[in-house]
Amino acid sequence: MARSLVIVGFMGSGKTKLGRRLAEARGVPHVDTDDLLVERFGRPIADVFATDGEAAFRAAERDVVLSVLAREDEHVISLGGGAPTDPDVAAALRDQAVLFLDISLAGAWERAEGSDRPLAQDRAAFEQLYAERRPLYESVAGAVIVPDGKMTLVRAADALAAFADGPVGVRMTWGSSASGEYPVFVGPGALTITPPGVGGRAIVVTDETVAALHFGSVPGAAGVIEIPPGEAHKTLATTERVWQALVAQGVTRSDHVVALGGGVVGDLAGFAAACFQRGIAVVQAPTTVVSQVDSAYGGKTGVDLEQAKNYVGAYHQPAAVLADTSTLATLPPEEHAAGYAEVLKTALIAGDELWQRVRSGAPVDEAVIFGCVRTKLGVVSEDERDGGRRQVLNLGHTVGHALETELGYGTLRHGEAVGLGMLAALRLSDQADLREEVAGLLGEHGLPVTLAGHEVDVDAVLRAVTRDKKRVGEAPTPFVLVRAPGDVAYGCDVSSDAIEASVRELLA
Ligand code: NAD
Ligand code: MG
Repeated sequence: MARSLVIVGFMGSGKTKLGRRLAEARGVPHVDTDDLLVERFGRPIADVFATDGEAAFRAAERDVVLSVLAREDEHVISLGGGAPTDPDVAAALRDQAVLFLDISLAGAWERAEGSDRPLAQDRAAFEQLYAERRPLYESVAGAVIVPDGKMTLVRAADALAAFADGPVGVRMTWGSSASGEYPVFVGPGALTITPPGVGGRAIVVTDETVAALHFGSVPGAAGVIEIPPGEAHKTLATTERVWQALVAQGVTRSDHVVALGGGVVGDLAGFAAACFQRGIAVVQAPTTVVSQVDSAYGGKTGVDLEQAKNYVGAYHQPAAVLADTSTLATLPPEEHAAGYAEVLKTALIAGDELWQRVRSGAPVDEAVIFGCVRTKLGVVSEDERDGGRRQVLNLGHTVGHALETELGYGTLRHGEAVGLGMLAALRLSDQADLREEVAGLLGEHGLPVTLAGHEVDVDAVLRAVTRDKKRVGEAPTPFVLVRAPGDVAYGCDVSSDAIEASVRELLA
């Protein structure tokens, strides 16, 4: 590790335990600043708070933490929960590789309740402190992991080492779901990171456009397979050509595929990898906004049939995701716009800070992309296979997919269709004001808010809605509806008249 790894987070998040284990895994010393303070005072922290007061404790903590951060040798440092509240400490953290263990409020309280921790004696005060400190941790950390016990320590230790060694400005987080876990790196230069745990040769699958622009940014590629760009080529026929090329290049199960490109490449190459010799590893290296905020995570892979989108596929979690935001510099404006629809969708699902940021018109920068990634990973970790909450990610997609299918793939960009589908979903949600706000944001980003100029067979669109994959048995197609930003419900029953009205409204 070039930089030391510093762990921050609220009390009870497990900073000490994880720090000790990570240090062990790395073979470097572990320092816990609370332990150093207990040594320095010669008595427990609770006593210091009681007799000397918090201010005296914070002053001592500041000294101890600053001197530990100034050490040159590599180590893992667990900071006391309040340490980053000191402005000098926060400033010193900017030069370090900082990991934020983002425990939930409920989880933190469960662990802290009834302890002798001076700041955990009262639930209301505890909650307020949590709300104050969380944005602070967010602001100093480059890596964020939700400690949910699903993480394999060795893999995380290697990934955190890659993060600490990697380009400054690349953020890291962790994807976990029932069938796999993986590190996610987001930021300029992420493609230069060698993801831990993937061995053998790297065979890059990409499209012709992306190959010309960005293949050179993938260090150590052993081979490349190019497909023609565009949704029209997200087919079984293209997949078979990829399989043939993998055979021709002598790829074995110990090698891996790097899917370099937008969602079309990611879905198709992921699917090709899922089936090739019954499954080889895939590293997702998304290069569009759509793929960096959405499609590269969660393991859904597949291709289109003529009759319906994404109708054939497999769940195949990536071995890692490298979202190199510098690749977005070459993305055409209309693709940025299409990506904006997924950003808006994700922000509506997330609510809170991400929604506030996006609705204020903030540009889609690394922070927004990272916020979207964390939202998507959070949803997918609870429900990998669309059995429940993952369905919220289909907000706008039921009508969106139907429009894409009926207008012919490629007529509307996926993001354009999702934007329109979101407007339909907001109408079905009885959210006139929010629909108007979202339409305004879509319009500002150059996205259509009506189907004007397109020949649309409404009956055919409605039939496509009922063919939606999310339908179970003979039941009507379940819809994702918005009660408020951050409060999105799935599996909602809506009448076919209401669906028709929401689609007809788009024709106006
Ligand atoms: P895309 O892959 O077709 O890319 C759009 C265009 O941009 C292509 O022409 C491509 O060549 C070009 N391009 C890509 N990166 C570029 C770059 N850095 N510079 C210049 N040009 C670049 O489309 P997309 O919007 O990324 O993805 C849409 C697909 O993703 C759809 O097929 C959709 O079904 C799928 N998707 C999948 C999931 C999932 O969970 N698996 C989620 C959302 C969307
Ligand atoms: Mg501790």
